[in-house]
Amino acid sequence: MVSPILRDFGMNSQGHFQRVALSAMMDLDLKERVRAAVDLVDVIGASLTLVPKGRMLAAQCPWHDDRSPSLTVNRERQTWKCWVCDIGGDVFSYVMRRDGVDFVTALRSLAEQAGIEYQTGPKVDAGSKDDKSTLLAAVKLICDAYFDQLDAPATDDAKIARDYLASRGIDDEHRHLFRIGFAPDSWDFATGLLKRNKFRAEIPVAAGVALNRRGGNGSYDLFRGRLMFPIHDMQNRPISMGGRVIPEIAARHGENAGGKYINGPETKLFRKSEQLYGLQLARESIRKGGQALVMEGYTDVIAARQSGIEPVVAVLGTALGEAHVRTLKRLADRVVLVLDGDAAGQRRADEVLELFIKADADLRVLTLPDAMDPADYLHQHGRDALEQMVAEAPDALEHKLRSLTAGIDVTHDTHAVMQAIDTMTGILAKAPMLDPLKQDQMILRLSRTFEISQSRLEDRLEKKRAEEKERKRKAAKFRAAAGTDSRSGDASASPAARNTSPAARNTGPTTRNTPPAPVGSATGPIDPNLLLAEAAEMDLDDPWSMEHAGPAATPAPTTNAATVKPNQDREVPLSSFDRELFEVMIESPELAGRAVEAIDPEWLDTLSAKMILAAYQELDLQGRELTVETLLALIENEFLKNEVVTMQFRLAQREGKITQSPEQRFQSLLEQFHRRENIAEKHRQIAKLESLALDENEELDLLKQLFDREKDRQQIDH
Ligand SMILES: [Zn+2]
Repeated sequence: MVSPILRDFGMNSQGHFQRVALSAMMDLDLKERVRAAVDLVDVIGASLTLVPKGRMLAAQCPWHDDRSPSLTVNRERQTWKCWVCDIGGDVFSYVMRRDGVDFVTALRSLAEQAGIEYQTGPKVDAGSKDDKSTLLAAVKLICDAYFDQLDAPATDDAKIARDYLASRGIDDEHRHLFRIGFAPDSWDFATGLLKRNKFRAEIPVAAGVALNRRGGNGSYDLFRGRLMFPIHDMQNRPISMGGRVIPEIAARHGENAGGKYINGPETKLFRKSEQLYGLQLARESIRKGGQALVMEGYTDVIAARQSGIEPVVAVLGTALGEAHVRTLKRLADRVVLVLDGDAAGQRRADEVLELFIKADADLRVLTLPDAMDPADYLHQHGRDALEQMVAEAPDALEHKLRSLTAGIDVTHDTHAVMQAIDTMTGILAKAPMLDPLKQDQMILRLSRTFEISQSRLEDRLEKKRAEEKERKRKAAKFRAAAGTDSRSGDASASPAARNTSPAARNTGPTTRNTPPAPVGSATGPIDPNLLLAEAAEMDLDDPWSMEHAGPAATPAPTTNAATVKPNQDREVPLSSFDRELFEVMIESPELAGRAVEAIDPEWLDTLSAKMILAAYQELDLQGRELTVETLLALIENEFLKNEVVTMQFRLAQREGKITQSPEQRFQSLLEQFHRRENIAEKHRQIAKLESLALDENEELDLLKQLFDREKDRQQIDH
């Protein structure tokens, strides 16, 4: 499937995988479709302000302390470059860097954004419960039907539902905006509708609108006699829904009426830990204002929106989690969790503190007074009052400190203070990758609050850390004994945890080429899964590679580790000689085709160059155009992409200043290559002669070859 050349260069001289591109899963068509469907300018513009700069656009680079906008974006070529950081690439490498994710994740998220079906693994049976588009169609059908039901003038129940909605203060405009509906008080409204529309029997349950009957004989509607709130994805497609009880209808069923809220179950479309209610509507205002408000219920979001507060979302029957924060952090720096002022709200505040420490986010907590929820509060005090409280909301640590010290005298109540410190250091000790700066800040704040020296607090934290480590060690031992050790328990070994933050990765102008530690380097633990995946992708099947790619224990075997050089040595920038070649190839796809035939990868100076040439060869084998666009779509490695885009930007800068045509430059390069090759061959033959291992005839033969070669060389020079 993959060209032997690309595969051969999948391993470097130290015998390590260096991925050029996904091979087994390589789907250039998918990559190209995604690239064509998204505009790099929109993607960058979603988080950075772009201003015109000559024929291009520019933004302040988020990866260095940038005063003049130095991140350049070429809309026409769909490439970007920061010369100060020496980073750049296409839309995929931008998303990789922005979100700190690998290529596949970036591809998936862009594909999703563009509404392009992304599937790995075996093809799913269309129409089956595994087919996302079937599930999407089913959920949409039901949501639309519920929406229409709320409008139906004929039924008495619909009127009850409308009156109830009005009594909750939700107006018609917002009923439409949020597509609020009504599930009739029936066991088979949704299931029957799906059946009449030829959906398979398994679909109602798989789509999350029905439950299986006991005994496995068919299914019945999950939502009955409820106000319905569809949950949309970022493309504004309904993927699930939640239902709120309507008291007058519920009263008919007595104890069997069910809870106040029923949330749709997790399905192939819907994951609570990732989804935020209302994000598709709030996204723009979150981005513009740099702040997101997270509430706990659909009606809070709608009430806030109705009062004119737009950057509001809600979690869906779950606590705010890391995935939620990650999503919001892409849009805004500041996340304010608005909690009901009750005991549950207080518990949430504690969970958020752990998140605050782990997630490196500006997480603020606002607890509403008098056990009110946001809708009540807005109703009584209005928008300005809530916005004022949001603006003054303390960060999660301060919030916790305030609640711990509320009512205690920190200078006298020693016992309470010790307990509070114990709680706080315990929470800090659980953070696996706590940034030292952040730790110092927190210790300083604790020190001020409790009037205890920083060094005492640090000692206390270290002790807590040791305890935590011991606890983890025991837990791991226990898991191993139980045969359930999956290595997934330790977050610090996962690829995600090893991703450094953009700030930490900023290499500045003087130290180029210091990308994050490579997989399997001597400096970091090997992730066997990643190695296995890469081996599979590289189509490697020889025993050597499997031995290394197999479930080897961490860290790397010593023989291996000793010979491995850091990544800086592997990701070597192109030599000027290599660069000249590729600049010609970039300028002229026709010459690129000839270069692929004529150039021996061995002639190139660096491994990076060999890999770029291998990528060109792969495109050629696949019968693709040898343009920079397709080249960038094929290459997934960020470092190589930057090399390619850098050459492209340099070429643009030198436009009109290069006197020789690409053809002339290509010819002179070929001559230089041949000359170098001759010299190399001569050295090899001289070495052979010097080894004295030849008989007389062989010796003469070699001398003759050397002589002929020299003659050729002079002709070329001439
Ligand atoms: Zn920069």
